[in-house]
Amino acid sequence: MSDEFNAPRGTLDWLPARQAARHAMIERFRALCEGAGYREAATPVFEEKALFSRTAGESSEVVGKEMYLFEDQGERMLALRPEFTASLMRLYLGHGLSREAQPVRLWCAGSCYRYAAVQRGRYREFTQVDAEAIGSDDPAVDAELIALQLRWYAALGLDGIELRINTIGDRGDREPYLALLRAYLDAHLDEVDDEIRRQRDLNPLRAFDTKDPASQRVMADAPKIADHVSAAAQEHFAAVRAFLDARDIAYVVDPTLVRGLDYYCRTTWEVAWPELGAQSGIGGGGRYDGLAESIGGPATPGVGFASGVERVLLALEEQERLPAGAPATDAFFAIFADAARPELHALLDRARDAGVACEADLAGRGVKGQMKQADRIGAARTVVCGDDEWARRVCLVRNMSSGEQVEVPLDELVEHLVKAKG
Ligand code: AMP
Repeated sequence: MSDEFNAPRGTLDWLPARQAARHAMIERFRALCEGAGYREAATPVFEEKALFSRTAGESSEVVGKEMYLFEDQGERMLALRPEFTASLMRLYLGHGLSREAQPVRLWCAGSCYRYAAVQRGRYREFTQVDAEAIGSDDPAVDAELIALQLRWYAALGLDGIELRINTIGDRGDREPYLALLRAYLDAHLDEVDDEIRRQRDLNPLRAFDTKDPASQRVMADAPKIADHVSAAAQEHFAAVRAFLDARDIAYVVDPTLVRGLDYYCRTTWEVAWPELGAQSGIGGGGRYDGLAESIGGPATPGVGFASGVERVLLALEEQERLPAGAPATDAFFAIFADAARPELHALLDRARDAGVACEADLAGRGVKGQMKQADRIGAARTVVCGDDEWARRVCLVRNMSSGEQVEVPLDELVEHLVKAKG
């Protein structure tokens, strides 16, 4: 049985050593979100396929090719969630959040699923953190979210990241622009690759994402959407930039940055750590004022971003900045008297309940082996109980860094360990 189906061969992401870092990253995200007024929400892992195909559109790569689909016993077509935005919007519309003070700001974290070729930084099962602000078209919200995302990377100590932003205008701007773009593509059809030719009708914007060098040269001179957006959208974009500038946030305006999902409008952004190579995008977001209507709600502005936890973790690892591992063990119980084990294991649980992280040997180690184990796990103290101590109902508590050792009655051990931990 293999787990290479979900993630690249040899990934460390399932291992205990990684979980501490993952939890620390998500905890950081939680603290930053809650400090900025974003409340945690949850969404189901599987949903009706229609939720994603209606919002993102069949022409998007995620919906068209990458969704995990299955039919359940009730003959419904379901999808494993490829992202959170559509589900959070449904939550907002279906649970009366639109009647609360606006905007409603939400965050969540969890697994997402996309069927793509597994490689470094690209998994079929991966983790996203996500933040959304629904119910306001104020450009301050776009900037607040961009800043929130960057503050998370900064809090994790991630260096060298790049922010690109663009405006893709309002929905009314899209069709006239797409007509221009198609005309341009038609004039260069023999210079671009097959994929672009295939996408010409359904989703010509995707041509900007091409990896083919010849096509990239063609697209460099293609008409850019930012030059063909309404005055209102331009004004919005200028305001977003003013909010970013006031925060001293560095960014590049990239007129080729168009997001694959159809419901995006106005502001769009991507954050990359270029050294990750092919999968350098660590997170991105945008405004999606058309999303609510696509699932039957009233027109509702919204903006949000998602960032992949695994990619950020890869970047942190390369920068040797992985968040600290599991908390160290406070006390290792080295029990050399077999008769003492049941009572000392009971004490161990009492100490755990009192907040002291403790361990005892569970591998039949002898005296030497247990002392070595205490050392190996970096226990701050070792509690030693041999036949002599057990007969006198005491134990020896040794401070492993100073070597200092005191005798403690078993009745007072838990209290002693709590005090020693401080
Ligand atoms: P997207 O919804 O495509 O904009 O993705 C947002 C972020 O999720 C990306 O920037 C990545 O960090 C992460 N992500 C997307 N797809 C994958 C994947 N297949 N494996 C790992 N991370 C991913």
